[in-house]
Amino acid sequence: MTELMDKIKKRRTFAIISHPDAGKTTLTEKLLLYGGAIHLAGSVKARKSNKHAVSDWMEIEKQRGISVTSSVLQFDYDGFRVNILDTPGHQDFSEDTYRTLMAADSAVMLIDAAKGVEPQTKKLFWVCHRRRLPIFTFINKLDRYGRNPFDLMDELEKVLNIRAYPINWPIGIDGHYKGVYNRLENTIELFEDDTSHGANKLKSTTGSLDDPKIKEMLGDELYENLCNDIELLDMAGDEFDMEKVNTGELTPMFFGSAMTNFGVQSFLEKFLEMSPMPQPRMLQDGTILSPENEKFSAFVFKIQANMNPAHRDRISFMRICSGVFDKGMSVYHKQSGKMVKLAQPQQFLAQERTIVEKAYPGDIIGVFDPGIFGIGDSLSDSSLKLQFEDFPVFPPEIFARVQPKDSLKRKQFEKGIIQLSQEGAIQVFRQEGVGLESYIVGVVGVLQLEVLEYRLLNEYSSKLLMNQLPYSVARWVYAEDKKLIENIKGLDNGMLVYDKKDRPVILVNNEWSLNWILERNPGIQFLTVPADV
Ligand code: GDP
Repeated sequence: MTELMDKIKKRRTFAIISHPDAGKTTLTEKLLLYGGAIHLAGSVKARKSNKHAVSDWMEIEKQRGISVTSSVLQFDYDGFRVNILDTPGHQDFSEDTYRTLMAADSAVMLIDAAKGVEPQTKKLFWVCHRRRLPIFTFINKLDRYGRNPFDLMDELEKVLNIRAYPINWPIGIDGHYKGVYNRLENTIELFEDDTSHGANKLKSTTGSLDDPKIKEMLGDELYENLCNDIELLDMAGDEFDMEKVNTGELTPMFFGSAMTNFGVQSFLEKFLEMSPMPQPRMLQDGTILSPENEKFSAFVFKIQANMNPAHRDRISFMRICSGVFDKGMSVYHKQSGKMVKLAQPQQFLAQERTIVEKAYPGDIIGVFDPGIFGIGDSLSDSSLKLQFEDFPVFPPEIFARVQPKDSLKRKQFEKGIIQLSQEGAIQVFRQEGVGLESYIVGVVGVLQLEVLEYRLLNEYSSKLLMNQLPYSVARWVYAEDKKLIENIKGLDNGMLVYDKKDRPVILVNNEWSLNWILERNPGIQFLTVPADV
């Protein structure tokens, strides 16, 4: 086996998807605890996203170091190099989540045992499913009363239309589970009562199902219940089929409690064993690029500006797709057509940033970005010059006209707007005939506007005047004869604007207006994604 293949096989890159409050922060922290990246859980400050995602975001803003580590985290476990991609829980930031999922090879779907499948879980599940990502399910909060495990399996099937194969099964009575039974290995793990409230790794005893010691520890009633459950699962449940897991048709299911560490280690170990190594990626021309290709390639999936308020720097996060990254290397940037040096490459181990010397397919690195990278950009060895498939673009649904309150701060304002649009936080449009004094910004969720206001003030010292506009639909306009596009200006109260690549976009109140305009303007087409015209 080549050295490169050796590295690839030992890498796992995944995202945790969940509804806010299901315990994603807690689980991430516990994975780090078991990975030895932190010594006592609780040292990564939990981020509260349940109440208001903006205040949450602002809180994070104050603790930049932590927000960095929560975007992409790395740790080593049992010879594996694990990359965890964080995704914002609030639906207003789902665009960001979709882009992050482009960099993952699998997803862990975290579900609160008492609440089951919640709305945001559902949405994120469908994105993963569409991309055929293997999905591993972790039912969390088993330390307190929740729903019956059979019930939860059933819900996955009914609501998400995915079959579940429980790998481990909780033993005991709801709210007082004592351990888990591993169905693939026919072993039992019984946890000791924990006095550290989850701060330390949990001690446990392991044995086989018919080990008399284990039987005695369980007592007759629990043992019998467990045997009945297993029988039922074996009879009525699915066979385990790794092929189906890999195509996203079957989800391996685990039970545990991130807070008390119950089942966390066995989940981690099984997950690392079963989840896919870095997968091939699709290129724009439809061909597939293998991670084993010796030549370096990567794509940018996230840009974060001003991560360090003292330096006002901008970091582009990229996923390596093939070859080896070497510190100091220059690569071809497809979008600008130039060679660029990947400067200050960093990885994020718990709270620390470390400089990367070498990185391999599946790894996520952050590089210093002088303002040239955009979301979805492709980087590769100069002999490849390749372009990865396009990232999904979402037509914005909320629009506002923004301008600086203090016109003397126009420069900062413009810089902020442009940088935040490169980051993918907002989409920016320009109105014809209107100079640079104001822009139209489009977003998918209203909280993004609040973040825009907050960040412009805090990072660019520019106070905004913002006027929300009555539009809710945006379409890119296409016509063979460009003059036709001029004709739709101002029709049915719509507004014709131009995106950052000067492509015309129509903003209207509703779908009905779109049809009204279309009927009266033969030769015009409306597109939900930009077409290069
Ligand atoms: P996130 O919004 O998904 O990141 O959720 P957090 O990790 O912040 O957890 C939300 C709340 O659930 C916090 O109060 C956690 O302490 C709590 N929590 C997380 N995991 C567990 C668990 O296994 N059991 C119990 N009882 N509470 C948990």
